[in-house]
Amino acid sequence: MFALVDGNNFFASCERVFRPELSHTPVVVLSNNDGCVIARSPEAKALGIRMGEAWFEIRDFAQRHQVAVFSVNPALYADMSNRMMNVLLQFSPHQEIYSIDECFLGLDGYTHLDLLDYGRQIRQRVQQWLGLPVCVGIAATKTLAKLANHCAKSALAGHAGVCDFSRMDSAELDALFARIPVGEVWGVGRRLREHFAAQGLHTVADLKQAHAAALRKQHSIVVENMVRELNGIPCLSSADMDEGKRQLISSRSFGQRVYALRELEEAIAAHVASAAVKLRQQGSWAAIVHVHIRTSHHDGDAYFQKGISVPLSAPSNDTLRLTRAALWGLRRIFAQGRAYHKVGIALLELTDAPPRQPDLFSPVRDNPRLMQVMDRVNATFGHGTLRSAATAMNTTPRWQARREFPARGFTTRWADLRVVQAR
Ligand SMILES: [Mg+2]
Repeated sequence: MFALVDGNNFFASCERVFRPELSHTPVVVLSNNDGCVIARSPEAKALGIRMGEAWFEIRDFAQRHQVAVFSVNPALYADMSNRMMNVLLQFSPHQEIYSIDECFLGLDGYTHLDLLDYGRQIRQRVQQWLGLPVCVGIAATKTLAKLANHCAKSALAGHAGVCDFSRMDSAELDALFARIPVGEVWGVGRRLREHFAAQGLHTVADLKQAHAAALRKQHSIVVENMVRELNGIPCLSSADMDEGKRQLISSRSFGQRVYALRELEEAIAAHVASAAVKLRQQGSWAAIVHVHIRTSHHDGDAYFQKGISVPLSAPSNDTLRLTRAALWGLRRIFAQGRAYHKVGIALLELTDAPPRQPDLFSPVRDNPRLMQVMDRVNATFGHGTLRSAATAMNTTPRWQARREFPARGFTTRWADLRVVQAR
């Protein structure tokens, strides 16, 4: 038995926690460089603002309707996410974090409880302790729990907030599934939905009743598993969901075009530094550093992109070694005279065990004690206090993202702490 707990409009909700005066105001959060809408409060949805809408297109509309607008604030969301995950851990030790605002809780040992009531307690505690609204879906498989969460979110058939499939009989479930389009099933994207439609599978009920083995022949084992999961047979192991841990990606587009190799190097070094911290936090080592750079599609025919994978002689989680490898790769793919718009890195081939065989020929070795000191100093005095000289010395480098609405570190920066005064 699983519960899938998912934050409602998570980014917008995080902003609202610290701006209670906005609790009934429409709120939207914009993507990197204030490109487009990536989160909306219910009031913003009610105004007709769509997900992914370009900010420059709705700016006037938003001002007219007094929409509160925020530039994306990853430090705040990550911190609120950690707090939420820790609260949820109290409800089951079997937690699988699936995304920044979503996790599965294994409830196998809890079936003697009233799970609907348990779900309400989860929801209530997260609301009370963190001020974040979440929805809970409960069912026998992960795919069904995701679907139950969808029902809880959209308040289908009176299941607002918490939806527990395990207390519904199969006739009730089938009636409900006949009302949900097949695209709501976890893993069904646009292409699969089109294939299904061509086969006459339009609703979740259609897919549930389909012949699983036959679908495997036409599609893949993934689709077969989907059908079995809809029928209450668990097919997804935790390993299937571990994908996020197998690679670490950090990339971002620039606030303005960047031309100089030196500036690209700074940006790449900054991406490596932040990914390397995560790598050490999760106790992994990377065997390959991938670097990519590109110009913008909006800049006409001269579109240019290139990537390179740099293998390390032995897996590493040392910022300095990873940076050196990434910069080596960057210099090989860099082309002069281009207007670069985005760079990124990926740490690949991650392992959970330290490399056993030291590399005889490498001039640089991992220095775990130095990394420990660096992580501790940065945790205490703030991100980037101690960093490699390859990252920018300048505090507002040109390659940084554009932000119209400066982010506040409500939970991560002393100066931004909210002050509560007693009357
Ligand atoms: Mg969510």
